[in-house]
Amino acid sequence: MRSTLSVILLLVVAAGSSAQQSSSALHFDGNSWWSHVKFLADDSLEGRDTGSEGLRKAQAYAVEQLQKAGLEPAGTNGFYQAVRFNQYEVDEAKSSLALVTNGQAKPLSFADDAFISSRATRNSANLTAPLVFIGYGLKIPEKNLDELAGLDLKGKIVVYLAGSPSDIPTALASHYQTAGERWKSLRAAGAIGTISIANPASMDIPWSRISVNRNHPSMDLADAEFNETPGLQLGVAFNPASAEQLFAGSGHTFAELAALGKDRKPLPHFSLAVSLQANAVIQTKSLESANLVAKLSGSDPALKNEFVVLSAHIDHVGIGAPINGDRIYNGAMDDGSGSALVMDIAASLKAHPEKLQRSILFLLVTAEEKGLLGSKYFAAHPTVSPKSIVADVNVDMFLPIVPLKILKIEGIEESDLGTRAATIAQSMGIKPIPDPEPLRNAFIRSDQYSFIKKGVPSVKVDVGFELGTPEQKIFKDWLTNRYHAPSDDVNQPVDLQSAATYEEFTRRLLLETANTAARPHWKPDSFFRRYAAD
Ligand SMILES: [Zn+2]
Repeated sequence: MRSTLSVILLLVVAAGSSAQQSSSALHFDGNSWWSHVKFLADDSLEGRDTGSEGLRKAQAYAVEQLQKAGLEPAGTNGFYQAVRFNQYEVDEAKSSLALVTNGQAKPLSFADDAFISSRATRNSANLTAPLVFIGYGLKIPEKNLDELAGLDLKGKIVVYLAGSPSDIPTALASHYQTAGERWKSLRAAGAIGTISIANPASMDIPWSRISVNRNHPSMDLADAEFNETPGLQLGVAFNPASAEQLFAGSGHTFAELAALGKDRKPLPHFSLAVSLQANAVIQTKSLESANLVAKLSGSDPALKNEFVVLSAHIDHVGIGAPINGDRIYNGAMDDGSGSALVMDIAASLKAHPEKLQRSILFLLVTAEEKGLLGSKYFAAHPTVSPKSIVADVNVDMFLPIVPLKILKIEGIEESDLGTRAATIAQSMGIKPIPDPEPLRNAFIRSDQYSFIKKGVPSVKVDVGFELGTPEQKIFKDWLTNRYHAPSDDVNQPVDLQSAATYEEFTRRLLLETANTAARPHWKPDSFFRRYAAD
């Protein structure tokens, strides 16, 4: 490891000296980036929901910018790659949930107690089933953790607390908490449904805001190959503040379980005294959207057929329930910021061309907010040869809301791409850190994960902070107040110098990855290495 690092350091010094001459101020000033953000987050684009006119306008603008930057189209229809979706919506007026004790049904309030998740409930269902609490509900063979062991889950609905025990490494915990991985072991154990209770210690968004938008339709890719939860009949999200009633008569309290969950301690597993009675009425329809793909060709005769992907998602959540009278969820930072960066870096490479050995693929995906769907489709059906993709550098909500002194690198310990990102940060006087908040599960929450699952070394990098500093509160407040809210708009304070420096970092990471002879590799002990084709 040490020797690899010193080789990389030498390369950085070599690359750094030429990059230093054309200092970051030459490549980026934050202003052109901000003007793209302003376009994408304008009210007229109505929050860029997948399938909406607003998203089509954003995409037309992006295509114009990518063309101006001299990139070649690399979709299936010019810059576009069409993607087909099914949409699911709960008809609450015709639906109901109740807890049953000794034959007595007590109705649950969708707004205050629990709601039917259309993400996890793809067909109408009418059923009553016993409940079993399964802790975090994880089965992780690598760590000899099997929370389902010894439990009879046949025909039952499982109840779990979001989170993971502290001895499970972040990436591994994130991986096994994805809907598909979680469902694999639950399905094998015979479960038919899930109730997830948000972990009060790691909720980005307060329940009131989650609940107010619970009826926003969800989507999935239309092709059957993408169904990851076959056999799952019902998925319910439970308000932790109402969760005590699930545990009545069980000999346990939710307060006791939440206290364990806060410290990531092991949780007990036991049958509950109540059953769930559910009538879920689901409306479905189909719709279409698209990814955008553009290419800047490398010049090395062999390496130019390999691609470093720079990705961001151009969709956001659209129009939702009004908050302070505003219904448009503009998504300026999420992920207008990343989409703007993709356009801005393309323009900078035209204004200040660099010799490229590999090619760079500029990818603006759709439907990230629906569950990483656009990237999932692209990773399964790439518009270039699958084996030619050597890395994904994903940019999603990098949050330049404080001066850039720290970069949080998701995947820092997983591959030499992570090591490279850290080394480049250091060379710019920025401190690289791993995710200080593993409970937020960020490693699986953006489009890099679609590439990781196809074996492609990937990173997602954000402006960061250290625990216990005033910056931590700034980020926490941002999530509480602006994340997935109408106030993630262009009337928020943004540090343009921080954004410009972040862009410079990303540019260097792309160039160095494109120009280093060896393609990035997973570390030998990385869990994600298993997905890489030999
Ligand atoms: Zn988002």
